[in-house]
Amino acid sequence: MAIDCEFRESPEMKDLATRIINRKSEVGYIDVNDVLFLQEYETKPPANARCYRLLGHPIQAFRPETFCIVFYEANIDHMSPQQRALLMLHELMHIPPTGDKLIDHNIKDFSEIIGYGGTDWSRSGRIVPDILEG
Ligand SMILES: [Zn+2]
Repeated sequence: MAIDCEFRESPEMKDLATRIINRKSEVGYIDVNDVLFLQEYETKPPANARCYRLLGHPIQAFRPETFCIVFYEANIDHMSPQQRALLMLHELMHIPPTGDKLIDHNIKDFSEIIGYGGTDWSRSGRIVPDILEG
């Protein structure tokens, strides 16, 4: 049976990433043009988004980016703009300052850096701090 995926390149997510990179020094080293931003609309994997390293992947015959972040819209369509910004910050933090090896969660506590304790920040209806404000 075929896997029914629907990927779209996302200028909106790239724009959100640009605003966060300009604002948050934790990810200020990231070149937004080195990241391919995709939204996927059909599947519901056990993740809201995933960060990939494209180096050495055949897709590099077609794309210049080193990294790719996929957002699973079927899982995150309930999120507020503030929650999406937190999710984006989280995913950007997987991209390393040097080299091309993705940063894993075990290096630092991501939620601590994001400044919002609690693991249920991504649930429907949760009010979270606006990292793009102030
Ligand atoms: Zn993560």
